[in-house]
Amino acid sequence: MKVAVIGAGAAGLATARELLSAGHEVAVFEQSNGVGGVWAYSEEAEEDLLGRNPCQRIHSSLYQAMRVNLPRELMALEGFPFDDSPAGGPPGHTRYPRHEAVLAYLKRFATASGVMSHIQFGHRVGEARGHPSQDECLVDGTRFDAVAVCNGHYSEPRVPMLRGFEGFPGLAMHSHNYRRPDIFAGKRVVVLGASVSGADLSREIADVAEAVFFCGRAFHEMPALRSQTTTIKRLPPVERFEASTVVLTDGQRIERVDAFLFCTGYRYQFAFLKPPLAVDDNWVKGLYRQLILCAQPRLAFIGLPFRVVPFPLFQRQARWFARLLNGKFALPSLAERRVERAREIRALRTAGTPKRHYHFLGDGQIDYLNQLARQCGDAPASERFARLWRAHNRHARRYPDDYRDRPLPTD
Ligand code: FAD
Repeated sequence: MKVAVIGAGAAGLATARELLSAGHEVAVFEQSNGVGGVWAYSEEAEEDLLGRNPCQRIHSSLYQAMRVNLPRELMALEGFPFDDSPAGGPPGHTRYPRHEAVLAYLKRFATASGVMSHIQFGHRVGEARGHPSQDECLVDGTRFDAVAVCNGHYSEPRVPMLRGFEGFPGLAMHSHNYRRPDIFAGKRVVVLGASVSGADLSREIADVAEAVFFCGRAFHEMPALRSQTTTIKRLPPVERFEASTVVLTDGQRIERVDAFLFCTGYRYQFAFLKPPLAVDDNWVKGLYRQLILCAQPRLAFIGLPFRVVPFPLFQRQARWFARLLNGKFALPSLAERRVERAREIRALRTAGTPKRHYHFLGDGQIDYLNQLARQCGDAPASERFARLWRAHNRHARRYPDDYRDRPLPTD
């Protein structure tokens, strides 16, 4: 089949490779002039530090000193290791490298896999649509049999509305535009969002700031953090602003706040899709197996689930899609797909999961990968993969401050 891939980040590269291996004809459209997506670090930030102007968008959300938060053997695509060293590498070789190593890895992969020659750089897709007959899609007017949407989901900042925020006189920024800590030197800084970025940036800022107040719901377990100079205060979420005072949900008040950093994540965005896709509180509606549109199986979305090991997940999803297009397995009927989706949504509602966490997989990712593998007749995720994921989680919870610099016990 003739398949369009939108985006040449890790998801687009992995998808193009799987499609090519399955014998499809592939055209990859990439708006920038290089591969790597978010891993192509930009020293520049947007003029509006809260990222509210999509016309100014800088795609990458990385910061200068960023190191990966997963061991590189886990991150790597199957069959393409980060480097030739045995697991763990030689002494002193970090398992959690800096972001440049990931970009170099993706460039190597794009060339070695043969995907590079299928990419049209500098082509920003303005319009993609499925066809009602379901066996044709259009990308910027060109006909394709199928489309894989790989546009990335860490570029559109999510900035929650907080009462009184418009009266805050200090510096306000979303982590999307954070590059270095210097701007926070000597300041009293509130960081909102108890996730990986919130923890990493709190630690980095605390080395130069007067004080850091790290606020958020305990989305996942996170002990107190320590920077080299200050202990970072772990506090409940923010309720409102009163000028430069930040009031928390338990009534505590943080006075004289100089700067506020939103580490509140990102929004799914598919502006080029026609008709527009329904996204409700960051839940992409209408999907079967988090992957294809229930009613339009030729339109796939690679990489929507979060709190996962992304690259291998992209690869498994892409393989599933490539095999589906090959007719290697038959989808259940539309009615059955809808029943399955309704059952999943009921379970999430019963568990009280907010819609914006419907794409959260966490520990459920191994079952998810295996479900895809089973359906398309592939081997399940390796036991080593599952073991390394569990070992990494234990390690990062035990040493939140410096897990990247410690040996990772894997047995
Ligand atoms: P992206 O990398 O965003 O690529 C999408 C591509 O699509 C881009 O090249 C973009 O230019 C292109 N595109 C978008 N719209 C269009 C259009 N209309 N037309 C043409 N091209 C378009 N993952 C890990 O595995 N380990 C980590 O340690 C890790 N740390 C992270 C830290 C931060 C701060 C962030 C933001 C993310 C991190 N991630 C990490 C997640 C990371 O986003 C994924 O690993 C992965 O790189 C995402 O790949 P992607 O291809 O889905 O998206």
